[in-house]
This record gives sequence, structure tokens and C-alpha cells, in this order.
Amino acid sequence: MIPEGLIHAAEILQSAQRVVVSTGAGMSRESGIPTFRDAQEGLWARFNPEELATERGFRTAPARVWGWYAHRRRAIMSCEPHPGHGALVALERLLPELVVVTQNIDGLHQASGSADVIELHGSIRRSKCLDHGHPFAGAFDEEIAGGEDAEQDPPPCPDCGSPLRPDVVWFGEMLPAAATTRAREFAEQCDVMLVVGTSGMVWPAAELPFVAERSGACIIEINPDPSEITRIADVFLQGRAGEVLPALVQALNVLRH
Ligand code: NAD
Repeated sequence: MIPEGLIHAAEILQSAQRVVVSTGAGMSRESGIPTFRDAQEGLWARFNPEELATERGFRTAPARVWGWYAHRRRAIMSCEPHPGHGALVALERLLPELVVVTQNIDGLHQASGSADVIELHGSIRRSKCLDHGHPFAGAFDEEIAGGEDAEQDPPPCPDCGSPLRPDVVWFGEMLPAAATTRAREFAEQCDVMLVVGTSGMVWPAAELPFVAERSGACIIEINPDPSEITRIADVFLQGRAGEVLPALVQALNVLRH
């Protein structure tokens, strides 16, 4: 038997015209990528974000920061999308319009085939130059296979010679303007926002469900634990993305037949 909450969520989705899926680090957890909270107990407990995730830190010790991100990039590139990512692709095919707005920098939504993904915090798969922001999407064949402490000089930008840095949003930096504007417009105009795997503590991304709710959208949340978003959720589906999302697609398919 399909649980009542899943049926309710599927009914809401069935009558929706425009759906926004807002994902956070929990969406990638079952692919083997730690969430921010995991990271606080692990990475950020051992490394200082001021040194590794700020422009000042990069300018002070570029080889340290580039080496750390090279290690993280290799780890992320070896991860695969899980059934929850696949379920979002299936959902996109079942509904008139669906866009994914993600805080994740791992590129797993695109890797699984989601067609329209707005990246609020950039992507670790891309780089850009420090001084002019020239984009660089090439691979780094020369990367050493060092650990997270291994220093490595950042390659120069092919256009201007300035050092390359990861194209992710660091502490103290603005989010990419085009992505933010588009995400906010979708939040204002959607009928349903499906919020998956975010604590709702990192702003301005955390504001999007509140914008959607104020604009009259239904909020469906998927998370193993209550979050800052849960109090405005019309339906809270407690559980993991990799289990609940496929079950939601199955419930929608049952309703449609
Ligand atoms: P967060 O770490 O603050 O919160 C993660 C949320 O995911 C929690 O509410 C947790 O209960 C939930 N969760 C854990 N396992 C889950 C699962 N299997 N299924 C569904 N939910 C699960 O994450 P956040 O709100 O996205 O904020 C973290 C910030 O750090 C973001 O800015 C993000 O860019 C960055 N970050 C990104 C990645 C990534 O790209 N994969 C990883 C870590 C951090």
C-alpha cells in the first residue's frame, strides 16, 4: 500500500503546471558525497574554511587551495547519480514543466540527465580565472593524485595567464546573478516546490521555498530529519532522497493509470 503522504504529494504534483525542485547537499548523500553537516564534523573540522573557501585564502596559498579542490574534484568525479536523481529525470518527463535549482556543486543532476538545472553555487567541474573570471571547462590531465593536503600550483588561464580557481561560490562572494534571478522567478511562478535534502540554513538559497510559499505554491519536502523548511511544508515526506523520490514517481504513475 502506498503511504498517505506519498499519495497526497503525488496528487499535488499531478495537477501542477510548473514545478521547481530545490536540492541541497542531502540530495547527493547517497552518491557518497558528504553533506555540509557531515563536512563540519569532518572536512571543516580539520580545515579552516577561511583558508580554503575564500578568495583571500586562495591568494595567500594558491597551491594549497588548488590541491585541496583537485582532491575534492577527483572524489566527486568518481561518484555516480543514485535512483533519486533518476527519479527527478522521470518526473521531468511526466510533468509539463520542471526545473531543478541546486545548491550542489557536484554536477550529478546533469550527469543523470536532468535537462534544466540552475546551479546557485557554481560547479566544481568548471574553473575560471582569478582576475577576470574567464571560464575554463577543460580537464586537468596533469593533476597529481595527491591527498587533500597535497599542494599543487593552479594552472594559468589560457586567455590571460591569471591562475585558475574552481568556479564555485566561496564565502563572502555573490551568487551568479543570472542563476539567482532565474531561480527567484521560478520560485515566484511555480505551483509546487519540491525541496530535497537541504537544511535551509544557507542563504539566499534557503529563501526560495519561502518565496514560493508566499506566492501561493505548495511545498513538498523530502528529508530524513525536519529542517528550517519543514514548518512551511504542506507535505513532509520523511526519508532519504534515493528512496522517497522513486516512490513518489511510482505513486504518480499509479494515479495516472
Ligand atoms: P546541509 O548539509 O546544510 O544539510 C543537508 C540536509 O540534507 C540536512 O537537512 C539533512 O538532514 C539532509 N539529508 C541528509 N541525508 C539525506 C538523504 N539521504 N536524503 C535527503 N536529505 C538528506 O546542506 P545544504 O542545505 O545544501 O547546505 C550546504 C551548503 O554546502 C550548500 O551551500 C552547498 O553548496 C554546499 N555543499 C555542497 C555539496 C555538494 O555539492 N554535493 C556537498 C556539501 C556541501
